[in-house]
Amino acid sequence: MQSPFAFSDTNKRYHTYDYYLKHRYNTKCIRVPIDAGFSCPNRNADGSGGCTFCSARGSGDFCSSVQLSPEKQFEQIYSRLSEKWGKGLPAIPYFQAFSGTYAPLAHLRSIYDEAPFYKDASGSSVRIPEIAIATRPDCLDVSNVSYLRDLSRRTGVSITVELGLQSAKDETLLRIRRGHTVADFLSAYRLLSDAGLSVCVHIINGLPGETISDMIETAQLVGALRPAFIKIHMLHILRDTLMEKEYRIGDIPLMSMEEYTDTVCQQLRYLPPQTVIARLTGDGEAGALIAPLWTKNKRAVIASIDKKLAMHGIMQGDAYSASNR
Ligand code: SF4
Repeated sequence: MQSPFAFSDTNKRYHTYDYYLKHRYNTKCIRVPIDAGFSCPNRNADGSGGCTFCSARGSGDFCSSVQLSPEKQFEQIYSRLSEKWGKGLPAIPYFQAFSGTYAPLAHLRSIYDEAPFYKDASGSSVRIPEIAIATRPDCLDVSNVSYLRDLSRRTGVSITVELGLQSAKDETLLRIRRGHTVADFLSAYRLLSDAGLSVCVHIINGLPGETISDMIETAQLVGALRPAFIKIHMLHILRDTLMEKEYRIGDIPLMSMEEYTDTVCQQLRYLPPQTVIARLTGDGEAGALIAPLWTKNKRAVIASIDKKLAMHGIMQGDAYSASNR
């Protein structure tokens, strides 16, 4: 059956990451999470503090040991994931933990110059068409963005910077101790897009004090920027975070799965059809997750979103303003 949505050949009503990979690279790619030993300017020198939801590993819970070099981590995880997804697939190294541009330029060079040439455990070349680097708005400046642009041009490897916005409301950013404003995010976004680098914006639904319309406004702000990718997460309460303490004393009411999936369906309407939905539900480490437990069942979350989109005749971008096109 013909899909109702232009960027789908599986009857999905939004632009999936699988569709993007298939149409850009004609194959699946293996994303390989790496902890390159960065830290984060939003945390104290002893590693405490930071965003109230942040885990001890700075979102790098799926990475290999930071004791290993990035190259060795790549070999190890790529081999393991190749067993699952198939041998010889292209790879996308994803520098996920903490803030991947929070270091002097010479240090960034020593890490990222190597990444396009990572090999598998047997020493054979791996096709690396893209690199993804997670960071914060206050860790980007003209010199490190120019370096990434030049690296991409020199090697032909596309670079995506994963940039957390989380909410378009400054009041919320203050409450969760993000340490940056919406304006800071927009400046960093502009720097990246002016350099021709693609951006994956991260947003979180269910942040404390937020209404559904706040969450939809966040999607509207992101949609107007026309990013290459977006990741939409449900707020996770993780063990040993500041937010766990707030949750335990009843300060953080959590969304139900129904509320979350309803909200996501509405948010998708405000995102341009070209924006790839790289994630529709969070991926917290199972052992560290305290709540909400329904997020563990990612299939059910996705199925609920698909069902609601079809039931209400919603497609990604159908409320995206014509003036934005
Ligand atoms: S910016 Fe990222 S790594 Fe830093 S404290 Fe916040 S979530 Fe953690």
